[in-house]
Amino acid sequence: MKKIIFATQNQGKVKEIKKILEGLPVEVLTMSEAGIDIDIEENGATFQENAVIKAEALKGYTDAIILADDSGLEIDCLNKEPGVYSARYLGKNTPYEEKNQIILDRIVSVEDDARTARFVCAIAAAGKNIPTLTTLATIEGHIGHEARGANGFGYDPIFYIDGFKKSTAELSPEEKNKISHRAKALEAMKVKLMDYLGE
Ligand code: IMP
Repeated sequence: MKKIIFATQNQGKVKEIKKILEGLPVEVLTMSEAGIDIDIEENGATFQENAVIKAEALKGYTDAIILADDSGLEIDCLNKEPGVYSARYLGKNTPYEEKNQIILDRIVSVEDDARTARFVCAIAAAGKNIPTLTTLATIEGHIGHEARGANGFGYDPIFYIDGFKKSTAELSPEEKNKISHRAKALEAMKVKLMDYLGE
């Protein structure tokens, strides 16, 4: 069976990707399961660039296909911040409770229809025997007036998806996985990868 290595240390993401790639004739391994331990500097200007940097960084270490993702939140009235800096924004070690409150305070006077935002996810696949592939997906929504919900992570409590009257932190993991930017980008990558998974 072909192997796919997912370039992340985040166990939550690994679980999600294994679930989505179920049914493909592949074994999904984490970097540590594949015995690869390197630090990759994400210095791209876009989500896609960062995903490609991460996936291609592992090419010299394995014959397997490598998948990597990069994701974040774009808030239109903040010039699309935090964008590719989402993980580092307002300090890498600042608790999200604080970061989310700072964002709410910064845009406290912004009208509802100007509070549009989206979660973005880029996925890249690379390997010695395939061209580098990328996919990009978003979920559109807006920043609410208060943080709500205890599920999810990161900016979920302040992001409200179009069509739902809930923040993404109020969705169950199953509900979120059905509609998330990451799930959509992975599903699209699954389709692109099928061409390269034959014997
Ligand atoms: P990375 O993709 O691991 O580099 O992380 C991107 C950052 O974007 C995370 O640390 C979160 O701050 C934010 N982010 C990405 N996806 C989500 C999501 O689904 N919910 C909440 N925050 C997210």
